[in-house]
Amino acid sequence: MARCEQGYLCDVCGDEVENISDSDLYLRFVTGQIASGDLLAAPERHLLCNPFNAQFIDTDAVPRVYASGDFDRRQLDDEYVQQQSQLLTRGWQRLQELAALEQPIPLADYPLPEFRSHGRSSD
Ligand SMILES: [Zn+2]
Repeated sequence: MARCEQGYLCDVCGDEVENISDSDLYLRFVTGQIASGDLLAAPERHLLCNPFNAQFIDTDAVPRVYASGDFDRRQLDDEYVQQQSQLLTRGWQRLQELAALEQPIPLADYPLPEFRSHGRSSD
């Protein structure tokens, strides 16, 4: 996971996902949707190439998108939408922090605190 490695190609549009701050895969990782062991096997996508997650990011920095059909947030239960918005907006903010780090941190410390698989803090 060294940052000098070439990025992975987006499963949807085929372009390179150049930065973790634009990565749907890492958004899912920091919000506990996938485990670190699945990170290499899971498809990479740009944030906006996966509207199912991107529609829950509430920030002016990300264009408003909606998933299609039954997964459109406007069709979903209010409470669920609120939970997902809080979680994925925090996850997105975490990605911006990770992208701005000057020193690499262990992969296990990437996720939001409640999704870290161990209690050890980085030193
Ligand atoms: Zn893409």
